[in-house]
Amino acid sequence: MKKLLMSLLPATLLAAPGPSPVDAWERTLKPLSVERMAHLDAAPRVALPERFSVRIGDQPFAEFAAAFARGDATAVARVRDTFRRAEKWVVMPDAELRALIAVFDARGRYSCACPIHPLQVRYYSEFRWSITDPWRLHCPRCVAEKREYSYYPNPRYPDTGEGCAPSDEVWRQDHDAAWSKRNHGIPWQQWDGQTHGYVSTERFFFKGKCLDNIYNSLGRSVLPVLGQAYQFSSNLFPPGSPENDRAATYAHKAKVLLLCMARAHLGDTYLRDLFGLTQAEYEACMRSFHGAEANQAWAYQFYPGHHLNQTKDLRPGDRGWKMTGITTIYRGTWNSKAGTARQWLDAFALIADSYTPEESRASIREMTQRMIVSSAGDAQKLSRAPDGPRRLKRGLLEYTLHPYNLKAAGDNLAPSTLHPTLNLGLMLDDQRIVENMAREVDFFMLNQFTGDGMGYEGSASYTPWGIAGVMNRLQGMGGDFDKDAPWYDPERKALNCWTMPSVVEMCAKREMYSFPDGSRIPWEDCTSGGKRRTQWLKSVLDAGGKLPAWIEPFVKTERDAAGKWHVAYVEPLTLPNWLLHENRKGILRPGKGTDQTVLHLDFGRVVGHYHPAPLSIGMYAKGHELATDLGYLGSTHYLT
Ligand SMILES: [Zn+2]
Ligand SMILES: [Zn+2]
Repeated sequence: MKKLLMSLLPATLLAAPGPSPVDAWERTLKPLSVERMAHLDAAPRVALPERFSVRIGDQPFAEFAAAFARGDATAVARVRDTFRRAEKWVVMPDAELRALIAVFDARGRYSCACPIHPLQVRYYSEFRWSITDPWRLHCPRCVAEKREYSYYPNPRYPDTGEGCAPSDEVWRQDHDAAWSKRNHGIPWQQWDGQTHGYVSTERFFFKGKCLDNIYNSLGRSVLPVLGQAYQFSSNLFPPGSPENDRAATYAHKAKVLLLCMARAHLGDTYLRDLFGLTQAEYEACMRSFHGAEANQAWAYQFYPGHHLNQTKDLRPGDRGWKMTGITTIYRGTWNSKAGTARQWLDAFALIADSYTPEESRASIREMTQRMIVSSAGDAQKLSRAPDGPRRLKRGLLEYTLHPYNLKAAGDNLAPSTLHPTLNLGLMLDDQRIVENMAREVDFFMLNQFTGDGMGYEGSASYTPWGIAGVMNRLQGMGGDFDKDAPWYDPERKALNCWTMPSVVEMCAKREMYSFPDGSRIPWEDCTSGGKRRTQWLKSVLDAGGKLPAWIEPFVKTERDAAGKWHVAYVEPLTLPNWLLHENRKGILRPGKGTDQTVLHLDFGRVVGHYHPAPLSIGMYAKGHELATDLGYLGSTHYLT
């Protein structure tokens, strides 16, 4: 019982070395057996190398360096721009950088909302936020209404990091009956204890959401800028030059942020125990790393570690929390986690060779790396911890990227995982991973797609979401690949996904599911605004592929003197009636060209995000959609 109580206490109240609330919760779990521990240690992991194959964008560093050396304008501008952007982080004292990585959980992405505009300002229709004002979420509607406070948290809606529970008095003053009526009847006389965001929680996690935004911003722009500035300054400029002199500073700032991120996620007691240090030794480690620079203020800040999170912004102790397949100490859904894994991997790879011998001896690099991937032997070491046994915390990469398994076929958002895995393969110079991504594209097409050329979720607008980007990155890569595979082009001696039969089929068919004005038929979980395009057909032809004969009446193709293909739909375009046997939809198209009437019927079953709409009928006539799918009835998303 005592242990359980500990887990309910806010982490920040226990900001002292010793078992953290996260540790206390861990102790309530059944200890792992020796066999299970050995099994955890034996599980295959991607071992991170001492040095990575560094890339700038999608270019190997050596290629980029050669371009810079010959004065290539793009490369020169990129270097100058990177130094300029890095400057603002270099001048920031370490203490300010450390303060960005808070000790509380980074939750609130999905549940946080404006207390005044909960249905309008929430996940998908966000607060305004900037890394230069990191602890405030600005509500554009509160700004427009000129409210006393248009940002959160604020003195009326305070949050120390554990979430805001508005007082009934404040709630009554800020809301009224008319507001309640406009907002699905949410009570106005007192706060009902719910955020009413995209998902609802019992606290407004304003600061948790700020921290989530901070992590995103660091991963997306700050860390790559610092890491690239380090690479440029140390490799493109001679020793003794002013640029080269700054290399260690760029790397140091990135290392400060990455180490704090690792500590925030894994927790100080975890890292301490994993590396067999006493608390005093651990603090000395941190002091030697952080205090190394002259004039840097230093005070030890205890990181309890992030709780097990899940997408509903809940953690152990919260009502409704449960352990699921996506419950980890890392935030977000599988696809956004994969994006984060890519950010951390890229950031780490850029500065991995910058750790000094002293930093390596103090395990700074090893500790940082643990948030990306754990090491074989970790579980054993943790079993011998003084207050042990402790449980292994895996790195983010282990949960999200599986470079030697085929995973994409079951995932309609597969590219969100394929891109980071491809990065991994390129950084490790591992051709097996690179080839696996081409194999994944083929399996994705063969298993996620139907004979109708659409994904299992039958929305013509986003059915092949993002896959073109993966194929374009793989296109033309050479290596020791399977010469008989459909993704290998023996003439070009390179990967060529665009000519795979599975891809050509999809590219040709999906464009048929559109109206005379070119917009796509809004079936299932569609996104609005998508139009029929010829780009993918052109990609097939440019890659040396052939379009199926049946498409000839509908498209004109022409090859120019430079060998590039031009593809256009014939005009006027009269598309045929069509029965989608596997996605279970039918299209009747009486009339010709833009005067066609389109009557479509959905006789599918409910899959994926698909709202219940079987047997819904839609009609397009006289240049307008006259009857359409009703979408997610009752949804408060602004797009539905
Ligand atoms: Zn607002
Ligand atoms: Zn969906």
